[in-house]
Amino acid sequence: MYYEWRPYVSVAERRRKAAGEMAKLRKKGHPVSPVTIEGRAIARTFWGKAWCENLERYSDYSNRLPRGRTYVRNGSVVDLQVAAGEVKAFVSGSAIYKVAVKVSPVPRPRWRSICKDSAGAIDSLVELLQGRFSQGVMERICRQGTGLFPSPSEIRLSCSCPDWASMCKHVAAVLYGMGTRLDEQPELLFKLREVDGKDLIARAGEGLPLAKKGPAAAKVLKGGELSEIFGLEMAEVAATKTETRSKSPKPRRTKTLATKAAKTSRAVKGGTARRLTGQAGAQGASGRSRAGAGKKSLARR
Ligand SMILES: [Zn+2]
Repeated sequence: MYYEWRPYVSVAERRRKAAGEMAKLRKKGHPVSPVTIEGRAIARTFWGKAWCENLERYSDYSNRLPRGRTYVRNGSVVDLQVAAGEVKAFVSGSAIYKVAVKVSPVPRPRWRSICKDSAGAIDSLVELLQGRFSQGVMERICRQGTGLFPSPSEIRLSCSCPDWASMCKHVAAVLYGMGTRLDEQPELLFKLREVDGKDLIARAGEGLPLAKKGPAAAKVLKGGELSEIFGLEMAEVAATKTETRSKSPKPRRTKTLATKAAKTSRAVKGGTARRLTGQAGAQGASGRSRAGAGKKSLARR
């Protein structure tokens, strides 16, 4: 490792420089898509949170990832592009660094197994992208090693900065930035892993154990559910969850108009639907506690 003297560059100055560089890229016809985070939570939806929590559960990563949080929150990831098998990004630090995160595709047999285990459980692409499915399917999708999220052995990281070791703050920021991006475009996870998300949509007569629809309430992504799936210890979330659970409606077995309305509002709480229904929905009375719970799990560090 070597040390290099670098003059202090303020965040504002770095931002100005980065904006100039990105404008040049745009002129050359390169699409530029910065990671922008509103508020403290890096990710709010099932897909975004599951991406972050998957990475945090690996000890190789958990020590080094935190250094990326401030970076991603302050807008340092000035461009992030997702292609099949790769996330490419520019991160503004003392200079602008180029980061690449290569992710191997989901092996075919594994993908077939995920689809088989989830068959009949997800009715539409909208449900899939909004993360509206039973906890059984969530657990299957998030399963360590055999789910949809990559393990460190399936990821190769690189950065053009001089501090490059196994994971610098630029790479860590990009890994979190991908979580933020999945909130907005969950379909990019399927693109990255080179599988077709439509394979997960229910097909009549193929129902298997996980497909059995739980009570409608089971489709809600509660604040603590993901941490349960990932086996993380999150005392704060657990506390909030107890409170949330006591307010949960009784499971409904028949589909009525009321159930449909509830489903829609739950989707809003899940987060992805904010794009569709606007901010007003996200402020729904009981949605507040859940959104808050999710926020805490990532923001409190
Ligand atoms: Zn770096």
